[in-house]
Amino acid sequence: MSDTIERIKCLIIGSGPAGYTAAIYAARADLKPVLYTGMEPGGQLTTTTEVDNFPGYPDGVDGPTMMVQLQQQAERFGTQVRIGMVTSVEFSDEVGGIHKVVVDNKTELEAETVIISTGATAKYLGLPSEQRLRGGGVSACAVCDGFFYKGQDVAIVGGGDTAAEEATYLSNICNKVTMLVRKGEMRASKAMQHRVTAAKNIELRYNTEVDEVLGDMVVEGLRMKNNLTGEKEEIAITGLFIAIGHTPNTEIFKGQLDMDDTGYIITEGKSTETNKPGVFASGDVQDKEYRQAVTAAGTGCMAALDAERYLAAVESKEEVEA
Ligand code: NDP
Repeated sequence: MSDTIERIKCLIIGSGPAGYTAAIYAARADLKPVLYTGMEPGGQLTTTTEVDNFPGYPDGVDGPTMMVQLQQQAERFGTQVRIGMVTSVEFSDEVGGIHKVVVDNKTELEAETVIISTGATAKYLGLPSEQRLRGGGVSACAVCDGFFYKGQDVAIVGGGDTAAEEATYLSNICNKVTMLVRKGEMRASKAMQHRVTAAKNIELRYNTEVDEVLGDMVVEGLRMKNNLTGEKEEIAITGLFIAIGHTPNTEIFKGQLDMDDTGYIITEGKSTETNKPGVFASGDVQDKEYRQAVTAAGTGCMAALDAERYLAAVESKEEVEA
């Protein structure tokens, strides 16, 4: 029965910096936001230790603390934060249309606007030693964690633009960077490759993969394997950066929202508008280039402002037609 279904003015999906910032702005604009946290409340930052690059924290802050504070700030203005996973959606094509959403495969909801902030998940190699040492020297974000390895020897895995950019970033901080590329060539753009080869302290290893990450509690070394010769070699390192790509969390939106060929949601120009009226996307789910907490928060703010403007336009259209 439709009259028993809850109608939400502004539904936010996802609880990273983008989702919570959207919630803060939407709540202050009286859009009465309801935010569903997803499987990993707080998002990717809850798996980070220290966040040193978010403006306004001169002494840094640990990721989980920052996410709790963002949640508290969103709740202070009236956001309802609910634990739950949006499992399916049916977006309307009409301006002013109602979007249908199902939570945890059972609860149906209706929403006038939807802000998608479901983020992206870093890919890992899947080796047991890599998984065991996540947070103990294995990281998927050089910009977040590289600083902790100042003056030390590290390694990075991947041959795309992210790996090339992060290897260059690390080369400015660390003593030596060993870069493992599984093929005989890099996938990164020529310009990015040039930056890697120009850095004196990056040693490029082609056709090379990680055989095992060494160390009990923290990373102490790496056993590499040449995938042409089968030859193995151990090196001493304190940090291992995995830069083999991210997967945007967009599975449930496929077929409804325009996405690029890697699954990132396409937004219109400088806005957060998707191809469905009243549906907005913010944070890593629509950004494969910058992927920072502060840029995600910025687009979360934009999404709430876009939703507010959209609702105002729908309301004035309805008044004119009445
Ligand atoms: P990509 O998918 O482009 O590259 C992933 C890299 O990781 C490839 O070299 C791939 O190897 C390698 N890889 C994948 N799986 C494994 C594995 N199991 N073991 C070892 N290596 C593996 O991801 P990126 O994150 O680099 O880039 C994503 C998108 O974002 C791209 O379109 C990129 O251009 C863009 N980007 C742009 C930037 C910029 O313009 N400044 C900065 C960062 C990203 P293989 O080649 O063998 O498949």
